[in-house]
Amino acid sequence: MAIIRDITERKKAEASFRLMAKIFEGSNDGIVVTNTKGHVIDANKAFTFITGYEKSEILGNSPLLMKSERHNPGFYFLLWRRLLKTGSWNGEIWAKRKSGEIYPKWLSIYTVNDEHHKTSHFVGIFTDITARKEAENQLKKLAHYDPLTGLPNRALFIEQLKWALKMARRNNKLAALMFLDLDRFKLVNDTLGHQAGDLLLIEVARRLEKCVREVDTVSRLAGDEFTVILTNLNTVDEASLVAHKILQAFVLPVNLGNRDIFISTSIGITSFPSDGTEIDKLLKNADTAMYHAKELGRNNYQFFSHVMNQKVLDELEMETNLRNALKNGEFLLHYQPQIDLLSNEIVGVEVLIRWKHPIFGFISPTRFIPHAEKTDLIITIGVWVLQSACSQAVQWQKEGLKPVRIAVNISGTQLKRQDLLGTTANILLETGLAPELLELELTEGVVMENAELTINTLNKLKEMGIRLSIDDFGTGYSSLSYLKRFPIDTLKIDQSFIKDITGNPDDYAIAATIIAMAHNLRLRVIAEGVETQEQLQMLRDKNCNEVQGYYFSRPLPEAELKQLLKRESKF
Ligand code: C2E
Ligand code: MG
Ligand code: MG
Repeated sequence: MAIIRDITERKKAEASFRLMAKIFEGSNDGIVVTNTKGHVIDANKAFTFITGYEKSEILGNSPLLMKSERHNPGFYFLLWRRLLKTGSWNGEIWAKRKSGEIYPKWLSIYTVNDEHHKTSHFVGIFTDITARKEAENQLKKLAHYDPLTGLPNRALFIEQLKWALKMARRNNKLAALMFLDLDRFKLVNDTLGHQAGDLLLIEVARRLEKCVREVDTVSRLAGDEFTVILTNLNTVDEASLVAHKILQAFVLPVNLGNRDIFISTSIGITSFPSDGTEIDKLLKNADTAMYHAKELGRNNYQFFSHVMNQKVLDELEMETNLRNALKNGEFLLHYQPQIDLLSNEIVGVEVLIRWKHPIFGFISPTRFIPHAEKTDLIITIGVWVLQSACSQAVQWQKEGLKPVRIAVNISGTQLKRQDLLGTTANILLETGLAPELLELELTEGVVMENAELTINTLNKLKEMGIRLSIDDFGTGYSSLSYLKRFPIDTLKIDQSFIKDITGNPDDYAIAATIIAMAHNLRLRVIAEGVETQEQLQMLRDKNCNEVQGYYFSRPLPEAELKQLLKRESKF
């Protein structure tokens, strides 16, 4: 007896099942099957590969285990509603790997029905699209580049800055933002045309990129404004070095077809997180520092944080550096016009020393003069200033410019230790400058400190025809009547009184009194630090003789001052 059963169907089904199993396991897509309660009943190898979960770990669990926090509950609600209504859902979704890493995947979910058309299973099939996402982002970035120079534009720069900030915080490292503005770029554009300007910008971009490391970002924000983000710094000095390198990169002219253009840049630097942790604040800091660099005569760099400027300096051996500065010719002079309020003409210029350190950029005289005074280097520096200023004045006259008085600052040490009389006489002789055109500025404190000794020197200087003025007047302890004994021509009212002259009645009264009493003593009065029209008007009303300050002009390099002197028009 034999029972014969046709198992063709069963064999077929078995074959089909084996095939399915093969496809299931071999698929590069992750596949997960759940029952209607949402418990995982099967998952393939790719599932483990992508999610990091072993099959044994996920069996019986919910796929919600792999949910990222990137979507709100509404997202899942809509997903389910669509799935139950139409039998499928697909789309992009953020998920979480076992490691905690969030990644994007393309997910399709299907419902599987039993023979009674009731849902029996859900199947999820997904691919990891991290790579595609990255490519997409890459494309997005392409829209973030400046077409002229190929550098990141403002939008991308902001993104990079955010990222750099995050990294610096996370790694406990220092980073820096540099804001660069080309000096006198407008002039190039106006005189040579926009096409030349464009070529120049391209070359600037190329040079800037050469100055930084791979990890740093050079961007062009607008016009002639560039930024550099320096990441992963150990100390601020590293930013100094890059800034120095950038300044050096502009030493050689840019060739634009048939002409060579010299261009320089002013750089402001802020570091983060130390100087701030907000994007806007950092940009503002760097911009402020950049303006400071412009103020100091362009073609230099400044840190936003004064503490930092100071720190960089303290690390230097000031004395050695000052000596080298003299030897290497790092000092230069700037000139600030002094305007007569009756004629509205420039009648004098104050000579202000500038130190351009090859690595640390411009260093303010208020910082290095005190050091120089301690070491007596001030004497050598003082001689250099006097000598250079006098020959410059003579040079202007030779060039046919109207003679103006030049005021040179003399420090206490010079008065006490130097043979000021002999040196000045020699310099006047050598240069041929008329003594009436030289004015020496001494501060109130210095004059009073050794009153008896000084009075002698001052009398002799006066006899030679040299003019004398008391600088920063009002801050010291002298009385005006005492001053009568000194052969002085001018009082310079200290800027601190001028600053608040319009807002503070006391300061106004002090300034007014100084002017009135000085006039009684037949002294001229000059107000320094005049910045606004209102301050000027008040000083005019009180018959102040001269003014000096940003309102008319900042201290200028020689070439620019000359342009002012050449100008026929009055202020
Ligand atoms: P000072 O002789 O009282 O010079 C005036 C200072 O005020 C200068 O600063 C000048 O740039 C600044 N100033 C001018 N106008 C304005 C204004 O409108 N607003 C403001 N806020 N400031 C204004 P600077 O050049 O930094 O010089 C600082 C000091 O350093 C000088 O004060 C002077 O005491 C000393 N110094 C500068 N050059 C020499 C020098 O050749 N020899 C000596 N011994 N001292 C110098
Ligand atoms: Mg002065
Ligand atoms: Mg002063």
